[in-house]
Amino acid sequence: MATTDTNPLLQRWVTPYELPPFAALRPEHFAPALHEAMRQHRAEIDAIAQQAEAPSFDNTLARLDASGRLLARVEAAFHNLCASETSPALQQVQREMAGPVAAHSNALYMHAGLFARIDRLHAGRAGLGLTPEQLRLLEQVHQDFVRAGARLAPRDQLRYGALMERLAALTTQFGQNVLADETAFVLMLDGEADLAGLPDFVCDAARQAAVERGLDGHLITLSRSLMVPFLTFSARRDLRERGWRAWTSRGEHPGSSDNRAIVREILQLRAEQAVLHGYATYADYALANTMARNRDAVMRLLDDVWQRAVPALEVERAQLQAQMRDEGIAHEIEPWDWRFWAERVRRRSYAVDDAEVKPYFPLERMVAAAFDCAERLFGVRFTERADLPVYHPDVKAYEMRDRAGRVAGIFLHDNFARASKRSGAWMSSFRQQTRNGGDVIPIIVNNNNFAQAAPGHPTLLSFDDVRTLFHEFGHGLHGLLSNVGYERLSGTNVLRDFVELPSQLFEHWMSEPEVLRRHACHVQTGEPIPEALIERLAAARRFGQGFETVRYTASALTDMAVHSLPPGQTPDDVVAFETEVLRARGLPPGVGVNHRFTHFQHLFAGSGYAAGYYVYLWAEVLDADAHDAFVEAGDPFDAAAAARLLRHIYAAGDSVEPGATYVAFRGRAARLEPMLKQRGLLTPA
Ligand SMILES: [Zn+2]
Repeated sequence: MATTDTNPLLQRWVTPYELPPFAALRPEHFAPALHEAMRQHRAEIDAIAQQAEAPSFDNTLARLDASGRLLARVEAAFHNLCASETSPALQQVQREMAGPVAAHSNALYMHAGLFARIDRLHAGRAGLGLTPEQLRLLEQVHQDFVRAGARLAPRDQLRYGALMERLAALTTQFGQNVLADETAFVLMLDGEADLAGLPDFVCDAARQAAVERGLDGHLITLSRSLMVPFLTFSARRDLRERGWRAWTSRGEHPGSSDNRAIVREILQLRAEQAVLHGYATYADYALANTMARNRDAVMRLLDDVWQRAVPALEVERAQLQAQMRDEGIAHEIEPWDWRFWAERVRRRSYAVDDAEVKPYFPLERMVAAAFDCAERLFGVRFTERADLPVYHPDVKAYEMRDRAGRVAGIFLHDNFARASKRSGAWMSSFRQQTRNGGDVIPIIVNNNNFAQAAPGHPTLLSFDDVRTLFHEFGHGLHGLLSNVGYERLSGTNVLRDFVELPSQLFEHWMSEPEVLRRHACHVQTGEPIPEALIERLAAARRFGQGFETVRYTASALTDMAVHSLPPGQTPDDVVAFETEVLRARGLPPGVGVNHRFTHFQHLFAGSGYAAGYYVYLWAEVLDADAHDAFVEAGDPFDAAAAARLLRHIYAAGDSVEPGATYVAFRGRAARLEPMLKQRGLLTPA
């Protein structure tokens, strides 16, 4: 075992930009490094608390914000590898360390000496002569401590600490169980008959998935980028049903990966956590620190959208049924049928066929398109650096230079699905921007799960994949363009119903006709995408909005329902509870939901989105309204609007209260109508 002197995690990283020395890292390095880094952080905290000098912003707040840098870099390397390139050995460390890391965090937030200093500063904050950003830091840090239990009585703090450690263990296990079910399942496609209906790109991806597992033939995994196309195109209804059932039952199989009891215990502990803080339910506690502020505001938005989405869905259903009649099909539409028939309607009514569309969206060109949009909006340039250390050969590393030509950020792009990576798409960081304790430039990573084409073939994206690429890159820019004084306020460390604004807003540029004309060129002929196809894509996108909105809103409603239960009312059977909520709401048949509880990682693989799945819709109100600023200016790259956007949204982090920073960008608060219009849910008056 590596000692403190030889453990590469604990040495100075002499790599370019102090990237983690990935090649030298072994799973057994992480536990000792985490323990040592926590010990050092604890010593830093004690030193702040034990100063004889009275508390000041500099000797307490600024020092706290600059503390724990070693722990932050070790934890970031660890969490990123666990998410993107895991192994049984790393998963073992994850389970082993979840408790101690949570205990460390508890000890920090319940450090009486430290909190006494922060509390004193907070009480006298008006007279400290702080800048607005310093005042914001003080308020946010004070709130972090209160929300983590700093004000609880000592006996309650003990219980609270135990709760947090148990929750950390449970959420870790939950995520690992989902991955286990995803890895365990493969749908083998035997021969031509099983490939019926699948376009070449799905066959190629299914072939590649088999090759990766050392198998012959074709197979479908539970990776979203394979399963969704399979459900969309496969003419084999029996196979679609098998795939759909496996996909939607993740985490619900008896045995070691069963998440049902875990969900139940997480809910019980969260209810208890809320009560300790004096809230009636976990949702009340979670929402107190958001733009929405309370359940009523969230439910008003969800109810309004649900009411509009269900009729929109029924219009789509009628189109599907008409298509089925024309093809002589009589059965009811089941959830494994919806995408298939929707695709047939889309092809007939809008003449959009993914097999026709995808050749215009090769991954490499779409990455270049995202970089080009960032350059035209914000003046930053991305340059590949093939020599930077990365953790997997598929990961690409880039320098981001600002207008003055200085390297202002490092960006890692990890685009392909593999068995060692968790599902979904996300942004994360290895290091966050700050100026506290010297200028630190951010190191940001984007993960996607695109199905990689066979060697020698370009990976082609669907229109939805391109949207995902731009979405995550929008989060990436939020981290990369951050320009604040303190790490706690940096980049994506914003209120959680604000965090999806930069990502969702950036999606708008991928569908700008001007961007498509420039970048969406046919992979073989190099011809730009035809204007008529651009128009058909826009119309076809509006067609699926009822389906997408109902599925999303249904999941947001189950999230709110289950986190709004008072203590003692956690259901014995969480699956039955979920079913009942959807029945009572009148979820239309044949549609399904985005996530069921047993694999709803937003809610149960961590607590960041618990009582918070609504945030995408909340942020969409903001992003649709924000995009209108460019529409009103008559130019998707309008320089004045882009400058305000950079300053008040992408660079501001949490240095300004989000409602206020939005008004600074837009000149007024956001309106609901642009979002409804964007989703085709605005009924003409
Ligand atoms: Zn996002």
